[in-house]
Amino acid sequence: MEGQQEQKPDASARRRTRSKNRTTRSDPVNKPSPVRKQRRKTPKTTPNDKTAQLSTRLKRKNSTAKRQTPPKRKKGVREKEDDKKDNKDISQRAPNYPQPWGSSQKYVGAHLSIQGGIWKAVLEAKRIGARAFGLFLRSQRSWSCKPLDKEGAEKFQRACQEYGFESHFILPHSPYLMNLGSPKSDVFLKSRVMLVEELVRCQQLGLTMYNIHPGSCVGGISVTECVKRIADGINYAHSEVPGITVVLENMSCQGSTIGGRFEELRDIIGHVTDKSRIGVCLDTCHAFAAGHNLAEKYGLKHMLDDFSRIVGLDYLKAVHLNDSKGEVGCRLDRHENIGRGHIGLEGFRQIMNEPRFDGIPMILETPYSPDYEDYSEEIDLLYSLCADRGRMGRNL
Ligand SMILES: [Zn+2]
Ligand SMILES: [Zn+2]
Repeated sequence: MEGQQEQKPDASARRRTRSKNRTTRSDPVNKPSPVRKQRRKTPKTTPNDKTAQLSTRLKRKNSTAKRQTPPKRKKGVREKEDDKKDNKDISQRAPNYPQPWGSSQKYVGAHLSIQGGIWKAVLEAKRIGARAFGLFLRSQRSWSCKPLDKEGAEKFQRACQEYGFESHFILPHSPYLMNLGSPKSDVFLKSRVMLVEELVRCQQLGLTMYNIHPGSCVGGISVTECVKRIADGINYAHSEVPGITVVLENMSCQGSTIGGRFEELRDIIGHVTDKSRIGVCLDTCHAFAAGHNLAEKYGLKHMLDDFSRIVGLDYLKAVHLNDSKGEVGCRLDRHENIGRGHIGLEGFRQIMNEPRFDGIPMILETPYSPDYEDYSEEIDLLYSLCADRGRMGRNL
């Protein structure tokens, strides 16, 4: 399967249950990253110093503490009853969870599962105290997929409205199969069709942004040709589906992937006709792996200065928050939990206090860890690093 060696996973929806099928990001297509499922029964305690508490937890990386696997729900009749309940009152499915952000201008969230219905991602976002979220809009396994369930799409929109998730804080992620840069015409054409289908899904869900990995030339064509091809695919999708902004994710410079260098993102944007519908999502792990040392004191500043000069800050639409298993410049796309990788907590302190990231979605795609029950703990950890959180949030 072309390009898959380079296209490592980063949008890790995860399973919180300690499944035997738990996988790492290293094999996203054959073994999709599991989804962190959520079933916290009671709100967490409110320690005075959340950062210290969570930092301590980071040190127990190899903790053997066991969590109970939530009971499996019966399918069939029970599921149908649940659907009826969803229709009646979506709010009953998501408790009013405390808000960890206080007065912070950062909109942190996570990539969430759509298992059981696409609207469930919204309920989960609310439940874990997220202000933004990412999601896949279809299965990752094949090029074709069933049309979006109309009722599910309506529930999704209703839940977004009820919980106040505006469309510019929701960033769907493309399937890893998509490769608009492929020199093989069949793969290029299938990718183009897939992008159009995905943008239509965005419309049906009331979404306005869509994140893609730019593509990979797989050694068959030059970077210049590949960049042009990617832009052609985007222009075609733009002409077919109005109203959706395609967001290019920066890559880690692994293999033949395009988008690790800001110049490549700039050149793709340069060939896109409608500049009002193109943007960039900065993935912190990918940027670090591509050589931007976010662990250094001025690392983030230097990266954003480069981005501003080469691409332009107006194009910055979102951030993916991931620590890196690999060292700076390793070119490997290996996500790590926040504070446990080579970017480290101090790197994320800079990120969480960077005003250029105000008001845009910041989405976690970190891997499953037995130490974390769900994404809410990493969200809390990140907000605990914010100087602008004030004294309004939880855990203060
Ligand atoms: Zn990605
Ligand atoms: Zn990412």
